[in-house]
Amino acid sequence: MNFPGRQKKLREHLVTTQFDALLISHLPNIRYLCGFTGSAGLLLVAEAGSVFFTDVRYDTQAREEVKGAKVIIARKMLSNALAEWLGASRTRSKGWTIGIEAEHLTVAERKRLADLLPSGQRLRNAPALVELVRMVKDDDEMDRIRAAVRLGATLFDRALEVLRPGVRETEVAAEMEYAARRAGAEEMSFPTIIASGARSALPHGRASEQSIAPGGFVVCDFGVILAGYCSDQTRTVWVGAASGASSKEAREAYDAVLEAQQAAIAAVRPGISVGEVDAAARKVLRKAGLGRYFTHSTGHGVGLEIHEAPRVAAGQKEVLQPGMVITIEPGVYFPGKWGVRIEDMVAVRENGCEVLTPTGKNFLTV
Ligand code: ZN
Ligand code: ZN
Repeated sequence: MNFPGRQKKLREHLVTTQFDALLISHLPNIRYLCGFTGSAGLLLVAEAGSVFFTDVRYDTQAREEVKGAKVIIARKMLSNALAEWLGASRTRSKGWTIGIEAEHLTVAERKRLADLLPSGQRLRNAPALVELVRMVKDDDEMDRIRAAVRLGATLFDRALEVLRPGVRETEVAAEMEYAARRAGAEEMSFPTIIASGARSALPHGRASEQSIAPGGFVVCDFGVILAGYCSDQTRTVWVGAASGASSKEAREAYDAVLEAQQAAIAAVRPGISVGEVDAAARKVLRKAGLGRYFTHSTGHGVGLEIHEAPRVAAGQKEVLQPGMVITIEPGVYFPGKWGVRIEDMVAVRENGCEVLTPTGKNFLTV
């Protein structure tokens, strides 16, 4: 991982903003910039160099992991260590304006820091600069994302082995999560969603104690974290025989969602806005008379975090660039009845896009 290169990119943004230094407190951003994977840290990125503060629990780990920054082990709180460092030399940080990650620092943390700062230094809210840099994945990240997606996809094969009428949703989730850990996943990227029957109409229906009954959909939405990077995938299957009027309607809804998903994927290429990608999916479902049942956005960025920039949603102006990785996940939900969602991860390429998720999308019955 090219941590100094990432910090350099961030410094280029420093030049165009009003900040003398940026204080990074969001752990995924810290990991991205210097490699630290622990749970307590502050990274100060300034023109002359970077300094990383952590506590004694992470002494050994920080010295092993952190690249491109001087490591300081705090004896008290991290904010005290930071303030001490800033105040230690009269010229080091004289009159500095320090940008903070307003989205991630609590009001209380901000106040504590402001109270500790040497006089003449100010805190100002910085825009989400690291998130901006993180949107475009480098080659090392793409390798890790691919590996996470491949591992994640195998969980659906496991789900198909155990998904049967009478099996509880939690049992299916448990088998998938066990398989994930056995295959080397660090953890799930979010609580596994196995939503059957009327629960499939809940876009975020976590696996429950409910037994899976024939004559309905099961939405399976799952992902793993491997080497820090997340996967995210959804497949929806029909339980029992696909015959009769209700299954015909279900089949039509499934086909419309699949068509919408493919239309959105076909729209993904450099230069197009994420809002246009969202519109491509929405247009298909509106045509099928299902527009008002598609209640969420079409997708989101994925990387070190399961949900990161850009949001692939109506009206969003972010323009796709090669190296961005997003999900495409339209769905339709009929409250009290059932729902369908199909989700793949795709990478934006010079000439269009590459679907990373290898799993087929044909209508399946279990
Ligand atoms: Zn998902
Ligand atoms: Zn997703």
